[in-house]
This record gives sequence, structure tokens and C-alpha cells, in this order.
Amino acid sequence: MPAIDLHAHTSASDGTEAPAQLVAAAVEAGLDVVAITDHDTTSGWSEAFDAARGTGVTVLPGLELSTQLDYASVHVLGYLGDPAHPAFIAETERIRAERLHRAQGMVDRIAVDYPLLTWERVLEHTTPDATVGRPHIADALVALGYVPDRTAAFQSILHWRGGYYRPHRAPEPVDGVRLIVAAGGVPVIAHPGAAGASRVLADDVLRRLVDAGLGGLELAHRDNRPEAVERLTAIADRYDLIRTGSSDYHGVGKPNRLGEHTTSPEEYARIVERGTGASPFHG
Ligand code: AMP
Ligand code: FE
Ligand code: FE
Ligand code: ZN
Repeated sequence: MPAIDLHAHTSASDGTEAPAQLVAAAVEAGLDVVAITDHDTTSGWSEAFDAARGTGVTVLPGLELSTQLDYASVHVLGYLGDPAHPAFIAETERIRAERLHRAQGMVDRIAVDYPLLTWERVLEHTTPDATVGRPHIADALVALGYVPDRTAAFQSILHWRGGYYRPHRAPEPVDGVRLIVAAGGVPVIAHPGAAGASRVLADDVLRRLVDAGLGGLELAHRDNRPEAVERLTAIADRYDLIRTGSSDYHGVGKPNRLGEHTTSPEEYARIVERGTGASPFHG
């Protein structure tokens, strides 16, 4: 049975490996299909396609769109959307600008107590044009010796209750879903059973997302809590949603390993059938 992992990050956002390295890691992990789903950008796609050529690995192009509801962040994976769709470009650029502004604001606050931290230090841990987030601030804090690793940074200085946290503006999930659909993509809610998301994704909210064109739910993900998965599975049954399973690989930045959760070939086929804005790249 083919191994299909539909959620992974690269240095185009907050993964630690370049898109070509992600593909190499997918080969190493024995995957048949890997999706590249960077936060709010499609800029890693072409490098991933080039790297896949001749490997036998299929790259499913996607992204992970940042949305927000009642102060909770809800991530919407979008597969096979047209990366040149004007509204799609405009919205992702706006979110990325908001993220940049928010990260600078967090750095200003943190620098009061950790004076070696500067914006320039943070930029050293990004690639040109990358979607900037807390992981890059974490990398700077690690390099400066303030914390041992990314995870420790997220558990302390960067935690939302850590005293320095700032939210960034993002569209509501229903608008994110509509945007992905408008671009010909297939929207799937990422880690819908994680603490913050499952709190705001009540049954009536999910019904409205389905009405807006939601395609599926990422039911197998290490952040999903078991009691939430039970409810979300019933929702997936009720609306015949696509069920995915994925690692949310971030390279060495997170413990998540490629292939730790996977998607069945049948569910993968439903995504490919439904997406009209781009095509999977068969390497
Ligand atoms: P942000 O989107 O800027 O609020 O930062 C949250 C992002 O950090 C999520 O996409 C997480 O996947 C990512 N992240 C990367 N490494 C870690 C880690 N070690 N612990 C927690 N979150 C992490
Ligand atoms: Fe991330
Ligand atoms: Fe996410
Ligand atoms: Zn992710």
C-alpha cells in the first residue's frame, strides 16, 4: 500500500529544510506521495518538483492557510489550488505581511528582557521571502543561548501565555475555505482536534464550512486530542468529508517524523479528483 503524507513544511515557511531536502527526506522515509504545505505560500513548489524528478515520489502541491476565529488560530490546508489566482495571491501576501509585523512586535517585546535578540538575528534564520513565524524567533533565541531548542522556546518565551505573545490578523476560516475553492483547490482543516481549533470548531461552524466548500478533515495528526477526533469523525461521516492523516513535518524543528500518520490511497484520490487549479507532480 502506498505511503501518503499530506502535510509538510520547508524553509519557504518554518521548516528547517529546503524543498529539495524535503523531497530527499520523503525518499528516505519511503513515501510515495508527499505534500508541500508551507504556511501562506506556494513559493517552494517548483524546487520540490525539480527535486522529485526521477525519484518516483509524487509531490502534491498545497499550502497551509492561516485563519482565525474567536482568537483561536485555525489552519486550513489547501491542495491543488492555482498559485496564480489573483485573490489567492493578494490574501496570502496580506497574511504574510501581517505575520511579519506581528513577529517584529514580538521581538520588540522579548528584546526588553533578552537584549541580545534583534530583528536582524531573527532574519538570519529565514530564507529570502519566507513566511516568518515564531519558529524563526525560536531559532534566534536558540542561537543566542537563551533556550536549548525550538520546543523549549515554544514552551516558555514564545508561549501564548508567555508574556510576549501577539496574535496576527488573518481571515475567518469560512473565507479561507472560499478562497481555496475559488482558486480550484481542496480545503482540508489541519489538526482540527488540536486544543485551540477544536474549541472554536463547533458542529454548527463546521456545517457552515462544509456549505462554503470544505473538502476534508485531517483526522490523524499528533496534535488532535482523542475526544475531539471522536466528534470530528462523526462530522466527517455526516458530510462525507475526505479524511486525511499527516505528519506536519518541520525538519529538525519539531519532533514530527515523515509518515508518522498517513492518508489512504482512496482519500488521496478524492483530493486529486476534486482539485482543478494545479496538478500533482509525478517524479
Ligand atoms: P506561528 O504560526 O508564528 O504562531 O507559530 C506557530 C507555528 O510554529 C506552527 O506552525 C508550528 O507548527 C510551528 N512550530 C515549529 N516548531 C515548533 C515546535 N518545536 N513547537 C511548537 N510549534 C512549532
Ligand atoms: Fe509550522
Ligand atoms: Fe498548522
Ligand atoms: Zn503545518
